[in-house]
Amino acid sequence: MASDFPALVIARDETGRQEVTLRQMRESDLPAGNVTVQVAYSTLNYKDALAITGRAPVIRHFPMVPGIDLAGTVTRSDDPAFSSGDRVVLNGWGLGEKHWGGLSGMARVSGDWLVHLNDTLSPRQSMIIGTAGYTAMLCVMALERHGILPGSGPVIVSGASGGVGSIAVMLLSRLGYQVEAVTGRPEHGTWLRSLGASEILERTMFTQPGKPLAHERWAGAVDTAGGQILANICAAMAARGVVTACGLAAGMAFPATVAPFILRGVSLIGIDSVYCPRALRVEAWRRLSEQVDHAVLETLAHEITLHDVEAAANDLLEGRHRGRLLVAIK
Ligand code: NDP
Repeated sequence: MASDFPALVIARDETGRQEVTLRQMRESDLPAGNVTVQVAYSTLNYKDALAITGRAPVIRHFPMVPGIDLAGTVTRSDDPAFSSGDRVVLNGWGLGEKHWGGLSGMARVSGDWLVHLNDTLSPRQSMIIGTAGYTAMLCVMALERHGILPGSGPVIVSGASGGVGSIAVMLLSRLGYQVEAVTGRPEHGTWLRSLGASEILERTMFTQPGKPLAHERWAGAVDTAGGQILANICAAMAARGVVTACGLAAGMAFPATVAPFILRGVSLIGIDSVYCPRALRVEAWRRLSEQVDHAVLETLAHEITLHDVEAAANDLLEGRHRGRLLVAIK
């Protein structure tokens, strides 16, 4: 087993200045945990970009290895549910926030956080999906649980060129939903149509305050934006429509009225991938392994290495990426 491995480390000095360095580490440097994983791939998510750039207080203590997800192979386990050689995936549970994360050659974690990867998904494919795709699947499952099925009517997806949005478009379309994609980058329209969007809507249609109730358009929604965009989507939901809210790319605020909820019976469902119960995450990964089109998935992937992560984090927050940033740990 390799004794040294690379890891991205975020440290803070006494003045609060944050520094990101790529260091060589040993297994003995890792935090406590009952399973050790050799990480093959991690990803760069919106939350990782906030942590790495220091633009939001994502990290709870320093030094921290960022990376909210990982996929790889178990090398050592004191948890009877896992054995050396098992292929696993991990999303959330405070990884990269409170516990050293996936942007590292090795990780030591709690077995309770791990999900076995079945034979249909490689660690690489699972990380093209990553936390973004797993969250998109949680949104799809919530729509289904609340009665929104392909025949219910169109589903709108905001932030469609991003990680969560693009995989939500792909999954919903594969399941037979009619998908309308909101994007601030209409130049990605052709690509979004290739993922299954039937209509491309410009983000500017949603960014100004609107009426409490607008023309009824959508049966379901996957919102990654929050802010005014989420408020305007809620206002234009059809009666009994269901909105899944998972993101805040446009902001934390929710400048809405209760009109859609009390006059049209619209439901607003919160999606939390980080502390999602185990049964739901196992179900989400099972569905992803069955329902993802691998050829289409490949078109979402942009592979980088640990050396590229800091620059990519800035690009991500500036909205210059589309799809998924996959980090190969070498
Ligand atoms: P990405 O950065 O990959 O995608 C975000 C997308 O949002 C962009 O591609 C862009 O799409 C759109 N966008 C960017 N800036 C703005 C803006 N100012 N106003 C409106 N839309 C904007 O991020 P992810 O897909 O990984 O994550 C999306 C959101 O979901 C984030 O807020 C993230 O924190 C959250 N999230 C939440 C999870 C949970 O557990 N609840 C789990 C994973 C993510 P376009 O150019 O097409 O408009």
